[in-house]
Amino acid sequence: MTVLLPYALREYTDGASELTLHATSAGDALAALVASYPRLRRHLFAENGALRGHVRVYRNDEEVTDPGDSVQEGDTLMIVPSIAGGAGAAGAFAREEIQRYARHITLPEVGWEGQERLRNARVLVVGAGGLGSPIGLYLAAAGIGTIGLVDFDDVDLSNLQRQVMFATTDVGRSKVEAARERLEGVNPHVRIVPHKVRLTSENALEILKDYDVVVDGTDNFPTRYLVNDACVLLDKPYVYGSIYRFEGQVAVFGGREGPCYRCLFREPPPPGLVPSCAEGGVLGVLPGIIGSLQALETLKIVLGTGTTLKGRIALFDALSFRWRELKLARNAQCPACGDDPTITELIDYDAFCGVATNMENTTMEGEITPAQLRQRLETGEPLQLIDIREPFEWNIANLGEHGARLVSLGDLPDAMDDLDRDQDIVLYCRTGSRSQQALEYMRANGFERIVHLRGGITAWANEIDPSMPTY
Ligand SMILES: [Zn+2]
Repeated sequence: MTVLLPYALREYTDGASELTLHATSAGDALAALVASYPRLRRHLFAENGALRGHVRVYRNDEEVTDPGDSVQEGDTLMIVPSIAGGAGAAGAFAREEIQRYARHITLPEVGWEGQERLRNARVLVVGAGGLGSPIGLYLAAAGIGTIGLVDFDDVDLSNLQRQVMFATTDVGRSKVEAARERLEGVNPHVRIVPHKVRLTSENALEILKDYDVVVDGTDNFPTRYLVNDACVLLDKPYVYGSIYRFEGQVAVFGGREGPCYRCLFREPPPPGLVPSCAEGGVLGVLPGIIGSLQALETLKIVLGTGTTLKGRIALFDALSFRWRELKLARNAQCPACGDDPTITELIDYDAFCGVATNMENTTMEGEITPAQLRQRLETGEPLQLIDIREPFEWNIANLGEHGARLVSLGDLPDAMDDLDRDQDIVLYCRTGSRSQQALEYMRANGFERIVHLRGGITAWANEIDPSMPTY
């Protein structure tokens, strides 16, 4: 039979991790073990010869309660000491869990005590997307007892290139429901709590308050500032990650005592300046790297071990494969975590980030709906239809057959002189946010006969031309 020795005891066995021996009972096996490695004796047995209270012995994953328990050829005896003074909690775990978490339990930095901490932890993952996928998968696999998932979206085919939590058969399903099934499949011992909502100032505190750690897998600024402020107000650690094209960022923010996301970026960029992943694209594996690091930092926070990224921000450039690390100090002037905070309750984050929230079915000033644009095109009157997206977006889908031409947002200032100010202009982008920005810019430069397409080419595809690919 085989006796498996944990990492913590190997310094008394000259590094040996297992010993093969013959025995008829568990007591015999242990006696043979200490005969081979005498220095082990006092670590396993008390003066009176009884097994020490912090040592557990398992035969084939079942606890040995009596040294007289018989053992057979082919059996495996596993010695499991509690580590770092923690109460040996083996009895609190089901047999299946002991085997499942064996690689954790044998780590001195985790052990039974750490595994129990993981099980008692409640972690909220905001956003079940590219970052949320590896975060959710690794947290579930590691045995985080309660994992909340916030996402109001459904799985889209274009998600699968990076959102590895989902299968092709999940397309069209609610993300949190599909994720719950997948994560429960990974580890049935964890409880998945789906929150199929958009996180808002009204519900954020209520949702976040039940969790110990909040992990950010979002892709938009309003939600990021909302999560940050809520974590400061509730004094919860906030594990931040973000990705854009080939670059990623990871940091840990420290709740009430900071530093926080606002110490890093006091204000969001103007809308449209930094495109979302949908507009800007992202290399498929990058969220896997950044999200895995967020899961790592989450485990360290829960275990209280190692040195987290708190007070630092790590930047990764995937194309050149370079890591950089910046120190991040709490800013005493920070409106959230500073000495004299002005953010004492959650605010309107869409307004703060300048995102238009008018979802009513009326045309705002300066907008044209897809249906109105089609009518306008059918009149045949001259129209300058300008696509202000990037060339790769144009290649996915465009309105070239209707006379559109590509002038990327960055080229607009130089290209403006070539446009006819006395002829109608319609601008469009993917969803309408960049074209709104371009519209304001051109109006400020004297263009008057100009509107932009509400909802962008995505709305055109949805309402006018369903055969057009969206992204
Ligand atoms: Zn701050």
